[in-house]
Amino acid sequence: MSGETSPIAGGATQNWITLAAMIIVGALALVSLYMGFQAYGNEDIEIAFMYMIIGTSGFIAIGYAFFRPKPTSMDPLKTKKFDVITTLECPQCNLKRVRAFQRGDYIYKNDEPCTRCEGKMIITSIHTRKEEKK
Ligand SMILES: [Zn+2]
Repeated sequence: MSGETSPIAGGATQNWITLAAMIIVGALALVSLYMGFQAYGNEDIEIAFMYMIIGTSGFIAIGYAFFRPKPTSMDPLKTKKFDVITTLECPQCNLKRVRAFQRGDYIYKNDEPCTRCEGKMIITSIHTRKEEKK
């Protein structure tokens, strides 16, 4: 995945509308600036100024539409961090150990050797822990 959003219904159409709107606004802004320069050449300073404002605000609108952060690029689910904790217990000496979840962990899996005795530690629980850092 390269930041592309998965297409939701109507998403492509909306992009086309946005693109078309940007082209229209851009064309209008260009025409306005052109008219402004013409009016400036004719020494109609007020009209020139008006066209300049329309043209510039058109470009600002395009710039805003183009450079504003995409809401989908910020995944709200990723801002909340969850720790997955695996609890291991040794059935022989009841030693308990907690470590971060590793790929392939499942409950009642014979995991790593016990650090205290010769037994094998068994995963007794896998749970998430919400990280609350404030
Ligand atoms: Zn043990």
